[in-house]
Amino acid sequence: MFPPISKTTYLYGLQCHKRFYLNRFHKTLANPEDEATQALFQSGTDVGLLAQQLFPGGANAQGEEKFHSLKTVKRTAELLFKYRVIYEAAFMYNDVLCAVDILVQKGNKFYAYEVKATNSVKVQHLADAALQYYVLANSGLNLADFSVIHFDKDYLRIGELEVGKLFKPSSVMKEVLLQQDFIGKHIADLKKLVNLKSIPNIEMGPQCNKPYACNFSNYCSAQNINPEETLVESAALDQTIHINKNAWESYTAELNYPLFFFDFETIMYGVPEFDFSRPYQQIPFQYSLHVLFGMNQPALHKAFLGDGILDPRPELIEQMIRDLGSSGSIVTWNMSFEKTIIAKLAIDFPDYHEELMAIHARIVDLMTPFRPGKAIVFSEAFEGSYSIKNILPVLVPELSYKNLTIQEGGTASFMYGQMRQLEPSVQEQLRQDLLAYCHVDTLAMLKIWESVNFK
Ligand code: SF4
Repeated sequence: MFPPISKTTYLYGLQCHKRFYLNRFHKTLANPEDEATQALFQSGTDVGLLAQQLFPGGANAQGEEKFHSLKTVKRTAELLFKYRVIYEAAFMYNDVLCAVDILVQKGNKFYAYEVKATNSVKVQHLADAALQYYVLANSGLNLADFSVIHFDKDYLRIGELEVGKLFKPSSVMKEVLLQQDFIGKHIADLKKLVNLKSIPNIEMGPQCNKPYACNFSNYCSAQNINPEETLVESAALDQTIHINKNAWESYTAELNYPLFFFDFETIMYGVPEFDFSRPYQQIPFQYSLHVLFGMNQPALHKAFLGDGILDPRPELIEQMIRDLGSSGSIVTWNMSFEKTIIAKLAIDFPDYHEELMAIHARIVDLMTPFRPGKAIVFSEAFEGSYSIKNILPVLVPELSYKNLTIQEGGTASFMYGQMRQLEPSVQEQLRQDLLAYCHVDTLAMLKIWESVNFK
């Protein structure tokens, strides 16, 4: 069968037969690849290269090619038994071609390692490793163990990166062996799919985002849309806002002026960038703050944004302590996020522990009255959600994220991560876009607060 089934397409087939088929025969129907997806792919490659340092001196079977191919399989066969360590060692069995990141030979036994840029072994890694074991073992390799190498979430970077401490191997041999019988059957199903003359008729469902978001979602959504149904659904929502006045007053009685409407944006680096940070730790790089000194008074706006190069935390902490002063409630939306960030800052920067924990104690949650169970402020138009993105258009329709270049936190985080590589003029535009986005986050809280108070 040509081309052979790759590990990626096998996993697509596990998720959804239609995704497998579309990827094989109708690649052009895939969603356009965005910068974030490309960056994710590149960071996975970079992490794989870094992990090779755990087993130095190996030979690379992939050469200059971007993807594994029959050439990689041939090269692996030539390197086998000549090199103790082979990177990107590829094998083919039963029309499936796949490679392991690192293959180590000790005597007549082999040890396979697959590198994942995560803090632990995930369920989807097991299916991945199980297929690799299936192909390698059936190619005649005496595999003594199969491990996933992932980050050690407790590794704290101080000074130079210590690759031996950053990564942690976890054997998945037991789980991999349990899946072997199933793999042959699944490959047989995929081969039948290859002979189909038309796209399998599969409805969208939970599989579309599990374990990863499917890259054919635009195509499948377009097939599913029934414009009449959409119209009826949105027209049917009752926009009336109900406020339990007594409960709202009890809630607001706990808050003290000045009110600081506050929001962080954070970035996570798999490989810790800065001293005193761990893999995938949330690093705050930006905040926005609207300060309200009393009812009917104009609010004051303040903001912080890192430079995209240095650790933003030391400067952020100092400015935040100045901006938030020593009294008044700090109003957030979903306070556990801000509280967790501040508690972590207090641990990693002990010189500011006291001031940071004093700030931590003043944080309140404006989301609480909107939780469906609380029923203090509710409307059918919230659609059962208490996300600020759902509540804002109902309570304050004149304020919107829609005209902003950056419209949600994931994009803000990704763009901040790109900042250091940009030309100065583009960098300046990005800074303005980030500031504008975070500004709306706290302005939204302020306006929601005012809107409920004046209803
Ligand atoms: S969007 Fe859903 S239904 Fe369509 S191919 Fe992807 S997983 Fe299958």
